[in-house]
Amino acid sequence: MNSTALHELQSRVSGEVLFEEPLAAYTTYRIGGPAAALVTPASTEDVVRTLEFAAESGTRWLALGLGSNVLVSDAGFDGIVIRLGKGLDDVTRGVGGDETVWTVGAGMPTPMLARRTAKAGLAGVHRLIGVPGTVGGGVFMNAGAHGQDFSQVVRSVELVEADGSVKQVDGGDIAWQYRSSGLGARVVVGATVALSPADPKDLERDVRTYLDRRKSGTPFNERCCGSVFRNPTWPEGEEPEGPRTAGRMIDALGLKGYRVGGAEVSRKHANYIVNTGGATARDVLSVIEHVRGRVQEEFGVELQLEVETID
Ligand SMILES: Cc1cc2nc3c(=O)[nH]c(=O)nc-3n(C[C@H](O)[C@H](O)[C@H](O)COP(=O)(O)OP(=O)(O)OC[C@H]3O[C@@H](n4cnc5c(N)ncnc54)[C@H](O)[C@@H]3O)c2cc1C
Repeated sequence: MNSTALHELQSRVSGEVLFEEPLAAYTTYRIGGPAAALVTPASTEDVVRTLEFAAESGTRWLALGLGSNVLVSDAGFDGIVIRLGKGLDDVTRGVGGDETVWTVGAGMPTPMLARRTAKAGLAGVHRLIGVPGTVGGGVFMNAGAHGQDFSQVVRSVELVEADGSVKQVDGGDIAWQYRSSGLGARVVVGATVALSPADPKDLERDVRTYLDRRKSGTPFNERCCGSVFRNPTWPEGEEPEGPRTAGRMIDALGLKGYRVGGAEVSRKHANYIVNTGGATARDVLSVIEHVRGRVQEEFGVELQLEVETID
């Protein structure tokens, strides 16, 4: 990476640009080495300029929200990290005169959207109260919980292509899958969601219930990334006897508490690996490797990662 060239980026954007910035502070795992440059765009225009710069200079880039679904390597990321947060977190209610339609900036935290929409008497994303990422990351990952996910409510997505062009994509044209939007190398800068009217009291009660459930059943306030593994699926009628979710399989193997360095299979929920303090990405990967090997040995299932590894 040519650091002199990289410094030119600073003159092109109005948001903050930090160099050799450790990424640990920007992930819920609190793990990860430095990014060559970390840009906090102040506007969509900043995202456009950063991607144009990256294309011209042949620099790798990566979009980041609240870093709640990533494991960044100890060596960091030798490229530009575009971190969407404040500056791209506006909300426009009542789009096109319809009170149930909101346009939300990609940098808004999903739990905030869940709370605000519930308070406004709109159902559709309120059960995502325990998904501690941004709306941009949520759309990109098709994040979901308790029967709701972004694919069900997204009417359109505003994004910036890798060449810097801005596009609007219809929700119906997105190749949604379980925890994936298939959007690829693009930066989501906003989304328009269509919600359904409901009683705010019921919704706010739901929000409390689902949040309490998260807090009691998962290591919600610990340093982690949510579910590490995807739940395996089987063709209909071929489901095996015994445990079928990743968490139950890992639990059945007595692996809660299994530890390498500072990384440990959560004692609260076996599909979470927590950083108990000072864990490295290498520690977490070693736990992942061990768990995968044991599940494969015992159940013949190859667990796939839900967390994204970044290096
Ligand atoms: C305690 C805990 C509980 C969780 N529970 C759930 C759950 O119930 N359901 C669930 O689905 N997830 C859950 N997660 C995982 C995570 O919160 C979600 O996947 C979330 O949507 C990720 O958002 P983020 O902003 O943190 O994305 P990041 O972790 O920052 O990024 C995740 C991926 O999205 C990409 N990305 C991020 N922002 C953008 C953008 N604006 N444009 C393009 N690409 C982008 C990144 O490049 C990366 O590939 C949980 C995590 C934690 C820590």
